[in-house]
Parts: sequence; structure tokens; C-alpha cells
Amino acid sequence: MNNKAVAKKILDILKEEFPNPSGGLVFTNPLELLIATILSAQATDKLVNTVTPGLFKRYKTASSYADAPIEEIEAAISRVNFFHNKARSIRNCCKMLADEFGGKVPKTLDELVRLPGVGRKTANIVLGNAFGIAALAVDTHVRRVANRLGLSKASDPDKIEADLCAIIDKGRWTETTHLFILHGRTICKARGPLCERCRINMYCEYYKAGLKETKG
Ligand code: SF4
Repeated sequence: MNNKAVAKKILDILKEEFPNPSGGLVFTNPLELLIATILSAQATDKLVNTVTPGLFKRYKTASSYADAPIEEIEAAISRVNFFHNKARSIRNCCKMLADEFGGKVPKTLDELVRLPGVGRKTANIVLGNAFGIAALAVDTHVRRVANRLGLSKASDPDKIEADLCAIIDKGRWTETTHLFILHGRTICKARGPLCERCRINMYCEYYKAGLKETKG
């Protein structure tokens, strides 16, 4: 079976495991998702979701963040780690949105990654989930799962994204991010992956290499 066929099988099985895959961040518009995603760097979605309701009630537009005193934004997100840096990123990002994009979140990768604090991963999350534009975001779970399965041998997230996009139908890019994250959180854990319980172990290079070692 070639890599495209393997990737399809893997995604079909994961889709049976997680029939309605979606991101864990709560939002009602692209700006809210952008802010929530900036906050979620090295923080759990659960924690971010406890902070954003108050934040989104207070600041409803890019200008309202841009014009707010930095201390005020910091206080509103102080339960999230790295809140000093994140407050700065949010304000700078919103300033550029207000100054250069009419206060609207842009719909292209090239424009999104120009925003302060927004990397390719964040941009792809926003494209895929707020705008329904096919986009594959590579976070730590996607990277680990793709590497272990052998779908990408790269360590650089941009290269992993390119490797996966080359073998996965465009219509499944956004779904792939969710499925790999859910699989990585529940089964293919960073420490102690639950390989015997894993329904895609027959396609996994990491698992097959382990079996070979055991058999000597
Ligand atoms: S077999 Fe193990 S390493 Fe491979 S995808 Fe499943 S849990 Fe991850």
C-alpha cells in the first residue's frame, strides 16, 4: 500500500474512533478563535476556555484590544501561562488588524502569519476552523503521531505539514489535525503510548519496529 492509501486507512479508522472531531477552543467568530489560539500556546484548551468568556465579553473588536492598557489585558488573562507575552501579542496583533485589515481577521495564510504572535500553526487553525478553508495545523500531538506512524520523518512542523498535505486529500486536512490531536491525547501519548489498544497499530512504523525488536 502506498502512503496515500495508508493515510486514508488511518484517517478512516480514527474517524470511527472520533466521529465528530473538532477543536477544543470555544469561540463564536474568527477574532475570538484567533485570540483563543494565541492564548492556547503551551496551555490547555480547558484553561483557555475558562478565561475567554470574560475576555470576549469585555473586548469585542480588534480596536478594543488595541486601545486597551496592556495591564488590563494582562489582568484579564493572568491565569494563563506566559500572560505577559501573550497580552503583548494579542494587543500588537489586534493593532495590526485594526490598522491594516479594517479590523477583520484575514482569510489567507500569508496575511495571517504577518500578524504579531501568529505562526503557521495558529494561522492554519484559524483558516480551518473559523473559515472552513482546508488547512492542516501541526502541533506537538500531530508531530508525534505523524512521526511515529512514519507518515513524516521530519522534525520541522512546516515540513511535516507539507509531507502530510502531499498524501492526504485536501478535503481532510482540517479533520486530520483534530483526529491526530485526539489520538495523540488519548492513545498515542507522548510517554507510554497505548500501542496494544491502538486501532491503527498495523500501519504504525514505531509499533512494527518494536515488534521486530521483541522478536529479535
Ligand atoms: S501503535 Fe502506538 S505509536 Fe503507533 S500510532 Fe498507535 S499508539 Fe501511536
